[in-house]
Amino acid sequence: MNNIHVAIIGGGCAGLSAAATLIERGIQVTLFESSSQLGGRARTVVVENNDQVHLLDNGQHILLGAYRETLALLKKAGVEERKVLKRLPLQMHILTAQARTIFSLKSAHFLPAPFHTLFALLTCKGLSLSERIAAITLMHRLKSSTFHLSKDLPLWQFLTSQQQSERLIEMLWEPLCLAALNTPLEIASTRVFLNVLKDSFTGNKSNSDFLLPKLDLSQVLAQPVAQYIQAKGGIIRLNKRVRSLSPANSGFNIETREGQHYFSHVVVALSPARVDKLLEPFPKLRNVLTHIQSYSYQPIYTIYLQYPRDIQLPQVMTGLNGTVGQWVFDKGQLSGEKGLLAVIISASGKHQRMPQEELALRIAQELQQVFPQLTKPLWHKVIAEKRATFTCTTSQPRPTNKTAQPGLYLAGDYTYADYPATIEGAVRSGQQCANLIINNLS
Ligand SMILES: Cc1cc2nc3c(=O)[nH]c(=O)nc-3n(C[C@H](O)[C@H](O)[C@H](O)COP(=O)(O)OP(=O)(O)OC[C@H]3O[C@@H](n4cnc5c(N)ncnc54)[C@H](O)[C@@H]3O)c2cc1C
Repeated sequence: MNNIHVAIIGGGCAGLSAAATLIERGIQVTLFESSSQLGGRARTVVVENNDQVHLLDNGQHILLGAYRETLALLKKAGVEERKVLKRLPLQMHILTAQARTIFSLKSAHFLPAPFHTLFALLTCKGLSLSERIAAITLMHRLKSSTFHLSKDLPLWQFLTSQQQSERLIEMLWEPLCLAALNTPLEIASTRVFLNVLKDSFTGNKSNSDFLLPKLDLSQVLAQPVAQYIQAKGGIIRLNKRVRSLSPANSGFNIETREGQHYFSHVVVALSPARVDKLLEPFPKLRNVLTHIQSYSYQPIYTIYLQYPRDIQLPQVMTGLNGTVGQWVFDKGQLSGEKGLLAVIISASGKHQRMPQEELALRIAQELQQVFPQLTKPLWHKVIAEKRATFTCTTSQPRPTNKTAQPGLYLAGDYTYADYPATIEGAVRSGQQCANLIINNLS
């Protein structure tokens, strides 16, 4: 395999996963990353505030127990899960702006699957008995059909056709849809949503656990995986934007500001918003390119607010109802950053029209109403990821990893058709590309 050298363009979860899988099988890899750090949309950023430097994640990420390939990748890289991730049994605790608990659900970890979820639905607070029965009936029906849907339709339409009341949708399904698909319920793909439900609520009961980073995200994911790749002889080149990609002999030329480099195979592991320029020179990929160019995107905003160190919320993770902010995470209980709260707003909405100062002030006011012990934050920072994920709709074309151009592969969350834009989708897509290359060589 001396003449095989795979270039991976992009050092997000997909690119790192492809590189780790290839290098493990003894295939030479060079990963090009345009930025000064790895991790892509799952990374830690350095923020300067009043002469102080803070390390903040570009967004609060939640992994699921069902993220089997991500967890396997971390294990391979020598990461001990319990040191970097806090595992919480599935739970939702939602408060109104008047500090009233409007919905609360907790999985019963003492019961085997699927009874742990059924018990959680049956005993949840905030829904009438008939609503709880409607939710359980739907879960039962989905399980009997192995979560399969013959024709995709918007999730809102599906749920109403399944006798899920407006309140049940608002309390249970909508927060789950926003957290999983980052797409409004009215247009979200039911098929993709059901895939996530299936992986989370069937099999081992730990599949529905939430896993929350205890360290900053780059330390949890990108850094250990990069160390693993490098320890096995893989090359990682930071600050190396690939300017162009073109066919050459039976391989490809990659152009960076340093010049041209030849590779036998290429994995393009970019966000769909960035692939156009690199695919343009390949006439065979015109259709794929047209599909990718049809994508629209959804934002995720994270508003960090630092309060005095003695501030602690009753829960690590609290849902908010009737407010601009949707979820608040107590970073003190997660990563020891005492007094630091992270408020998440998924998908598009009126918050996008607010100047960041105004948004931060509004969120601080909302939090103070819900948690009266909070005073004025000492500092705040809004991180707006405007193209956080592709909009996961019913009509979304999803390209395959193997392209019509021999030797050229596409990785990235958007290429793992079963899943929405997630770390797990990205990791699986990278693995699939690597396996296609490996199988093609043997
Ligand atoms: C705020 C936020 C919150 C999220 N929350 C969750 C969550 O809770 N759970 C979850 O599972 N997922 C979550 N996601 C989604 C998840 O982060 C992404 O799906 C995943 O990280 C995508 O990985 P990727 O490798 O496909 O793409 P990317 O992460 O976009 O990686 C692409 C990489 O390519 C690099 N690049 C771009 N152009 C070039 C070039 N020309 N040459 C070289 N390199 C280039 C980029 O710098 C980047 O590092 C969230 C995303 C955001 C933004």
